[in-house]
Amino acid sequence: MDEKSLMSLAVEARKKAYAPYSGFRVGAALLAASGKVYTGCNIENAAYTPTNCAERTAFFKAVSEGEREFVAIAVTGGAGEEPAPLCTPCGVCRQVMMEFCDRDFRVILGNNEEIRCVTLGDLLPLSFSPKDLKGENTP
Ligand SMILES: [Zn+2]
Repeated sequence: MDEKSLMSLAVEARKKAYAPYSGFRVGAALLAASGKVYTGCNIENAAYTPTNCAERTAFFKAVSEGEREFVAIAVTGGAGEEPAPLCTPCGVCRQVMMEFCDRDFRVILGNNEEIRCVTLGDLLPLSFSPKDLKGENTP
């Protein structure tokens, strides 16, 4: 699956966002190594802290279905009707990605008009990962 197609699925997933408090809607589409795509949206809560981001929704759906290896994720979001040109994952989602992905995991940002591709290593340099617990992480 190419980057534009994955982004298109993220844009569709964003339409399902539950964001009555912030109005900031986010969608994500996660491509697993199996070839299957798991989508997610942000899901807010009146108590605020139970809120879950789109990226983690996608990851948790995939992991709960048995997936452990991932290729790329597309993320799109914004406060307007159409997604903004750039919406980057929050720090918590970056850490969740690091649990399952290497630094070269592709993160596709933008919307259906503009796409920017970065790696998880770009977003989370000098990260803490499961490799650290085994003494295997190298900067
Ligand atoms: Zn997040």
